[in-house]
Amino acid sequence: MSDISLADFHLTMQVLDHLDAGIVILDKNYNIYAWNTFMQSYSGISTEQIMGKSLFDVVPHLPEKWLKNKIASTFKLRMRSFSAWEDRPWVFKFTNFSPISGSSDYMFQNMTLTPLKSLTGEYTHICLTVTDVTDIAKSKNHLRESNAQLTHLSITDRLTQLYNRGHWENCLSDEFDRYQQLHQPMTLVMFDIDHFKKVNDTYGHVAGDAVIKNIASIVRSAKRQSDIAGRYGGEEFGVILPGTTADMTSYFTERLRKKVEKSSIEVDGTAINVTISLGICELHSGITNYESWLEQTDSALYESKKNGRNQTTVITEEGNFSPSVSIRSNVKQLVRNIC
Ligand code: GH3
Ligand code: MG
Ligand code: MG
Repeated sequence: MSDISLADFHLTMQVLDHLDAGIVILDKNYNIYAWNTFMQSYSGISTEQIMGKSLFDVVPHLPEKWLKNKIASTFKLRMRSFSAWEDRPWVFKFTNFSPISGSSDYMFQNMTLTPLKSLTGEYTHICLTVTDVTDIAKSKNHLRESNAQLTHLSITDRLTQLYNRGHWENCLSDEFDRYQQLHQPMTLVMFDIDHFKKVNDTYGHVAGDAVIKNIASIVRSAKRQSDIAGRYGGEEFGVILPGTTADMTSYFTERLRKKVEKSSIEVDGTAINVTISLGICELHSGITNYESWLEQTDSALYESKKNGRNQTTVITEEGNFSPSVSIRSNVKQLVRNIC
């Protein structure tokens, strides 16, 4: 090396050593040609320990197969390539100590792979540039989590943790549209707590809230994963049952009604028992929008109220009211037992 090129090399090495990024230069056999101060500090491996040796023999925890493929394709395409932290949080497993949180975890990294030409014009080496993007990654992840939390808050009813009215109605509208395309059975259930005003008047609003919460958790445990439950109003709830006929739904409503009837909430040593009245309406081609589907279901619910509460009414396609199928079968069973 001439004096001038030696001086150039000396200057270049100083620049590389003061870069706030890792610089690793490898030949085609992955033997180390350059390993700057950044890499030494974070890996704890000195230049003397690694120079001339294979990267994969000295550095632990490298994604060897992936990195070898990436290096091979960079040489093949003779173009820079990139690895982003979103796809692979780190290539070199470096511990990062955060002075703000006091916590220590792994450094998030972006990495650029640049093919390098020798003096003869051949691509003989590759430069890996490793940048610490931990701060960006953490704030992006934090933002993502905050957005997810905000979305959850905007669709969830605070008291019951069921869907709130706005989101539940959007689901109802979507399911109605889906029915128009697929014509698979779909049923809506609306139910309302009986004489709930009396609960508030007798035990207070806080006890009333506890009753509403308890009913919400009964709905959650009684419904299937695919059923969509929401708090429609103060003490009125809705459940959409996709892929379910009115007859099938009546088994769900009976289970729900009985569970509510049996369960009680204790306030100051007194057990509060409530019942619910329910309405069922299976969607059919005569219902032209989701609002009238809701109205018809509500009319079945009010039929249950009118007939004495703590029961379920189905509204048929013809607009007639009838007790739900499981009640009818219970009555049949009763008649059979008597006879
Ligand atoms: P019905 O059997 O006909 O449904 O009678 P009801 O007393 O349940 O019906 P009404 O509509 O007269 O009363 C509903 C009550 O629910 C009135 C309202 O103060 C109460 N309510 C609505 N939202 C809440 C709530 O979030 N918490 C509590 N504790 N009470 C609520
Ligand atoms: Mg009520
Ligand atoms: Mg009501």
